[in-house]
Amino acid sequence: MGYVIKIDSGLCNGDGNCKDACPSDVYEIKDGKAVPINMEECVGCDSCIEACEVNAITLTEE
Ligand code: SF4
Repeated sequence: MGYVIKIDSGLCNGDGNCKDACPSDVYEIKDGKAVPINMEECVGCDSCIEACEVNAITLTEE
């Protein structure tokens, strides 16, 4: 079981709110877009989703 994060790069504005909110350092901002570089560290807390002002993040549990 783990979490799969999808970022809608058309919506992402690279403001880094997800990166700042994440307790597990999952995100990095690359070329102005959020990239989940440590997806396996995600604990499913939804903080990034709540922090994202453009609703670019989808989290599913698998
Ligand atoms: S759900 Fe929580 S742990 Fe997972 S990426 Fe978002 S902020 Fe980080």
